[in-house]
Amino acid sequence: MIPISKVQLGQEVEELVLEVLRSGTIAQGPRVAELENLFASLNDSRHVIAVNNGTTALIAALEVLDLKPGDEVITSPFTFVATLNAVLATGATVRFADITLDDFCIDPESVESLINDRTKVLMPVHLYGQTADMTRISQIAIKHGLEIVEDAAQAHLARCEGRAAGNWGIGCFSLYATKNITSGEGGLISTNDDGIADRLRVLRNQGMRQRYQYEMAGNNYRMTDLQAAVCLPQLKSYANLVERRRHNAEMLSNGLSNLPGIRVPMEIAGREHVWHQYTIVVDDCLGKSREDLVAGLEVQGVSSGIYYPRLVHDYDCYRTDPRVVIDETPVASRVASTCLSLPVHQHLTDVDLLKIVSSVKGCVAK
Ligand SMILES: *Cc1c(COP(=O)(O)O)cnc(C)c1O
Repeated sequence: MIPISKVQLGQEVEELVLEVLRSGTIAQGPRVAELENLFASLNDSRHVIAVNNGTTALIAALEVLDLKPGDEVITSPFTFVATLNAVLATGATVRFADITLDDFCIDPESVESLINDRTKVLMPVHLYGQTADMTRISQIAIKHGLEIVEDAAQAHLARCEGRAAGNWGIGCFSLYATKNITSGEGGLISTNDDGIADRLRVLRNQGMRQRYQYEMAGNNYRMTDLQAAVCLPQLKSYANLVERRRHNAEMLSNGLSNLPGIRVPMEIAGREHVWHQYTIVVDDCLGKSREDLVAGLEVQGVSSGIYYPRLVHDYDCYRTDPRVVIDETPVASRVASTCLSLPVHQHLTDVDLLKIVSSVKGCVAK
């Protein structure tokens, strides 16, 4: 079976984890600092603050912006549930802009139509490894005096017009096991604002700057050196990993781009995609549903994934929450019922990729 994702860490990770284990410093220490510094330099960010997961990164970013009940955050309805849960954890209200079919990210026009006196934060999600149209979104934020929090959980070192994800506002990255780089569980926050970086560091450590001197009601959001040791070697060779994912995406698109009823993902001009997922849209004209394709691929030994099968707010637990305001998002609704991700990870061989292409073609032809 060709898996949709695969965690396979090398000898360098094993050695560094063992070194940390034997050093006696297993909680937050020098390896976390090294990870922060390396990510900051690769990402062109002034500051990077490591935390215990990507959801925490989003919550902490929103917390330092001092959102009050009634303040509104505009985000994507086509995302992992953590995006929505993070906003609700801060007490703010969430609204959803529609996405574009080209990049699966929030549509700047739709964002602008939702802005009102209560709007405080724009929270684009850089889905599947490609950023949203940050040039336009940033112009809108400046025009209306809004903050930007980027959910870059899937888009480490992706770029838009040469600028790396996480540098348009506060950037939030995940290091969960299936992301492009991982520490098992982990998160990184990037900012170019000295004051925000300072507050994030204090917030992460119980609101404490000096021992038993508390400045704010903080929390324990710390990452451990053991986790940093898992991630550091991956980050050092990350460029190779992205190169391999890019090659894989190209091979899939070369094989699938002329199939009727299938829309292959595109890399928008001016953006650098890091191919966290390779996601096709399966249209009705196939005479087959997406679910038929999933089943057909499974039989041929190819796993696929549906990220995400429903809009993020389309669950009973959110329907009656007054802080979840739902507007029509027809493009996002269409994509949720037709998207399908195929394996694109760095451990695939060219033989695997040809098999994925021929399996999809076989299912469509039948
Ligand atoms: C993975 C993910 C998160 C949450 O990250 P965790 O590290 O799992 O907490 C948030 N947003 C998106 C879009 C994600 O894919």
